[in-house]
Amino acid sequence: MFKHTSNILQTPIEYLKGMGPQRGELLRKHLSIFTFGDLLQFYPYRYVDRSSIQQIRQIQQDGQFVQLIGRIVFFDIVGQGRARRLTATFKDASGQIELVWFQGISWAEKLIAEGGNFLVFGKVSLFNGSWNISHPELEKLEKEKNETNLGLMPMYSSNEKLKTRGITPKLISKMIQGLLPQVKPTDLPDFLPENICTKYHLCDRFNAMQQIHFPVNQNAMQQALYRLKFEELFMHQIGICKLKLNHQKSRGFYFEKVGDYFNQFYKNHLPFELTDDQKNVIREIRLDTQSGHQMNRLLQGDVGSGKTIVALLCMLLAIDNGFQACLMAPTEILAQQHLVGIQELLQEMPVRVGFLSGSVKGKDRKIILQQLEAGEIQILIGTHALIESTVVFKNIGLSIIDEQHRFGVAQRAQLWKKNVLPPHVLVMTATPIPRTLAMTSYGDLEISVIKQLPPGRKPISTIHRTEMHRARVMDFIKTEIQQGRQAYIVYPLIEESEKLDYENLYSGYEQVKQFFPDHTYKIAMVHGKQPIEEREQNMQAFIKGKAHIMVATTVIEVGVNVPNASVMLIESAERFGLSQLHQLRGRVGRGADKSYCILLTTLKLSVSGRERMRTMVEETSGFAIAEKDLELRGPGDIEGTRQSGAADLKLADIIKDLPIMEQSRQAAIDILLIDPELTKPDHALLRYQLLQRPDQEIWRHIS
Ligand code: ADP
Ligand code: MG
Repeated sequence: MFKHTSNILQTPIEYLKGMGPQRGELLRKHLSIFTFGDLLQFYPYRYVDRSSIQQIRQIQQDGQFVQLIGRIVFFDIVGQGRARRLTATFKDASGQIELVWFQGISWAEKLIAEGGNFLVFGKVSLFNGSWNISHPELEKLEKEKNETNLGLMPMYSSNEKLKTRGITPKLISKMIQGLLPQVKPTDLPDFLPENICTKYHLCDRFNAMQQIHFPVNQNAMQQALYRLKFEELFMHQIGICKLKLNHQKSRGFYFEKVGDYFNQFYKNHLPFELTDDQKNVIREIRLDTQSGHQMNRLLQGDVGSGKTIVALLCMLLAIDNGFQACLMAPTEILAQQHLVGIQELLQEMPVRVGFLSGSVKGKDRKIILQQLEAGEIQILIGTHALIESTVVFKNIGLSIIDEQHRFGVAQRAQLWKKNVLPPHVLVMTATPIPRTLAMTSYGDLEISVIKQLPPGRKPISTIHRTEMHRARVMDFIKTEIQQGRQAYIVYPLIEESEKLDYENLYSGYEQVKQFFPDHTYKIAMVHGKQPIEEREQNMQAFIKGKAHIMVATTVIEVGVNVPNASVMLIESAERFGLSQLHQLRGRVGRGADKSYCILLTTLKLSVSGRERMRTMVEETSGFAIAEKDLELRGPGDIEGTRQSGAADLKLADIIKDLPIMEQSRQAAIDILLIDPELTKPDHALLRYQLLQRPDQEIWRHIS
């Protein structure tokens, strides 16, 4: 039965004229369109400018996008099984081109069989000496209309399944066209405050919704697009900024003094002079922990910039004030390295350090937990086992998370339950945070940066070589070893198959042994599945210079420090992501000698693989690499963005629309400054809208 609702936009989609229950079901299932309102927010993904049509004869470049008008003069279905395809010869006044479909064949065939003029849009490629377009967009042009004078035509995405069931992009367009006149301005009230709309020159919402679907011209479309992107990003940002505001207001422990632990260590045991950046960060943290509020700070510093010592000094500060502190790492190996490193630094100091991870079991675990609860352990180092609810501290005041990119936002929040007040939180990452992520995934944190590397670091030459050069690469490593240096050889982790992973490593190890025979060279192998003692023994052999080569999986990605190593050879480098490659490269260049990072790949690389290698060879700054990484992978792939909701945006792109995001963030901050709870009449609509959204939990806690 038709249910009357006050707002037409809440009407279930099947009640739209021409829709019906079956199509309604398809839209719900495939496009998540449940209501009229959802359909309105199903925005065109591009516009066809009817005034710009190319001639087939003018096609010049592989990969070029073209829009053509013409007829299909011949088509046929050829091949079997996976090679089965529909090919069609498309002709305009200037020439002809081949169109190919491997999927959606029956849909395309039906359309082509109707005959007449078609509009074709797609990417051309050169195949066997002639141009072709695979899976072009194909649209039948209607005779009666003057096709050359239609201006911008919206294009909606659909998929093959929907197309075969009759839900073509064209039908979607018709549906929206039918819906729009029924929508009144009061159905689309503008929830952005008027002063914001004025300040940022935003057209009103009702107007924008009309123009985004059927723009009168390019300018109107741009304005609508800007307004709707702004709105989307604004709603996202106001939630993040509110979270940050809440953090800033939440009460936190007061670290009033710098005491003996800190001072003793600083004066007597600090192995080197801190860099100015390190000193600044400690100063910032000192201010945070004296403010009476809970600290939530992100410390970003490139690989090797010296974050560990900063973490240690902050933990000593916590102890000085009668609190416990913990340091959490994403893997067992890293956690153990931290333990070893910190125990070494603290060997002359009366600080009790404990360790906890999944591998600490039974009686040992029980003892640790008891000592922790009794307050006998002052610094606890470990993995995410630390956040389990069975781990109870006597009085935790500071939690440090190393390598944040592997910890989720939710895990971070777990830490807050560990004491009567939430402990101060310091998140450390070697992956520089591009500006866009600083405003999304990390938008609720204060940010500190260590820009300088400790003195004495040498530049690293990065070289890309293929399999063909393997022997020469090995010879090069030999000459480095003859000069007293050491080398890492790293194999990729194949995530789908742990077994394959080690086969890879072991066969690599055998291959390396052929180049570096036992009687002259010592090779240490290290990986995550080794018994801890064996791994530690091999690691120590390399650290002490007894082994010439370390053959390893990515366990050495973070944390290992051997200044004498001058070569990092990365096998199958194309299998690694940019940030991982950068981390690995950071293992060399730590001593007095010139260092090399060699990326060994197969000859044939994907476009993105080639781009990653090129980036590594050309860029040394972790920041530039992180930006490039984001660009190549897209935000959806980056951990943390998904939880932050940034990947759900319909129109805006958190990378390309960075300037709009910055403006919308400023707008959100401006509003929250004068009305943090959004209780003013001007903000009632906005508040109402926010409360409707599942991702805006935060507003529901306010009275
Ligand atoms: P990361 O920031 O990658 O965690 P680490 O804390 O592991 O870096 O530091 C890398 C190396 O640099 C370590 O060997 C550390 O002892 C050294 N180091 C850190 N700070 C300084 C400094 N100010 N001067 C000289 N060496 C430093
Ligand atoms: Mg580190």
